[in-house]
Parts: sequence; C-alpha cells; structure tokens
Amino acid sequence: MVPEGRRATLTVICGPMFAGKTTALRSAIEDARAAGLRVAVVKPARDTRYAPDAIVTHTGERTEAHAVRSLDEALALEADLVAVDEVHFFAGEAVAPIDALLARGTSVVVAGCDIDHFGGVFAPFDALLPRAHAVRRIAGTCVRCGAPSTHSERLVPITDRIIVGGIGDFVATCAACFRPCARP
Ligand SMILES: [Zn+2]
Repeated sequence: MVPEGRRATLTVICGPMFAGKTTALRSAIEDARAAGLRVAVVKPARDTRYAPDAIVTHTGERTEAHAVRSLDEALALEADLVAVDEVHFFAGEAVAPIDALLARGTSVVVAGCDIDHFGGVFAPFDALLPRAHAVRRIAGTCVRCGAPSTHSERLVPITDRIIVGGIGDFVATCAACFRPCARP
C-alpha cells in the first residue's frame, strides 16, 4: 500500500500569458470538486488585476479564491487539493510550502508563466517542473506571426520582474518574435 504522503500529486499548468492557463486551472478545480474532493483555491494577494478574492479568466469566468501573501497560508486550509493560480508571483518561496503540502498528502495543481519577460525560466518553475507528476504546457498564438506562443513580452519597461502590469502592457509571442525586456 502506498504511504499516505506519497499519493499526493503535483500538476503544473504553464505557458505564456493569454494562453488559457486559468481556464485550464478552473477545469481541474471543477473536475476535482465533481469527484468529491475538497479543493482550496489560492492566489497571490498582490495580483489584484481582476478581483481580490477570485481567480478570473480573461473572458470573465470566476472562481472564488483565498488571496494569500505567502503560500505558507495554504497549509492552514482544509483541502485534498490546493489549486494555485499565478504561482510565479510567489517565485522560489512557493517551493517549500508545496513540498510540505505534498508530504502530508495534499495534492497541488499550479498555473503560471514559466518564462519571464527577460526570456529566462521563471522561478518557481525551475524547481516545480522536475517535481511535477504531470505537466500541461499551453500555447496561445504569437501576436506577430501567428505561430504558437511560448513567451510573454512586456511592452513597457520594468524594474522588478514580478511587478504586476496592466493587461495591455503585455503580448504573447513565439520564441523567434520575442523581444526580451531590458534588464534594470
Ligand atoms: Zn512569432
């Protein structure tokens, strides 16, 4: 018999902005709830683009969520599955709480951008991808050439790579069309 703490799974949904990651996360949440699992949904408190207390797709579909400053707060929630949207906002600090959830038998599904605006791997995906039991990498459409998009390009300069920009401040592109943000 598999020990309790080893039945939990980590599922990673990743890709550029505007590819449908939040929609895929909402489907995973709905499937788990339909199967009778208790699902706790969390999002970074600093992401207030659409709503402070919900994850919202670009087309306006919403799921209630706990806004947390640290993913450690997810450890206090009663859940069989913890779903995390915009996990890149937590950067490397997401890794220890996710390990702790998995170790106690709570499954985790995360969604977020795996490539930053400089073209590098966005923490915590460097740590989460090798830990994941399943990875779903989603592409949208490159705004410049129509190829599958992999990168999120910031159109206005930034000084901090996890700063929240307005929706109009970004486009999704393929790797060939991507223009990296200048490093501050
Ligand atoms: Zn392109």
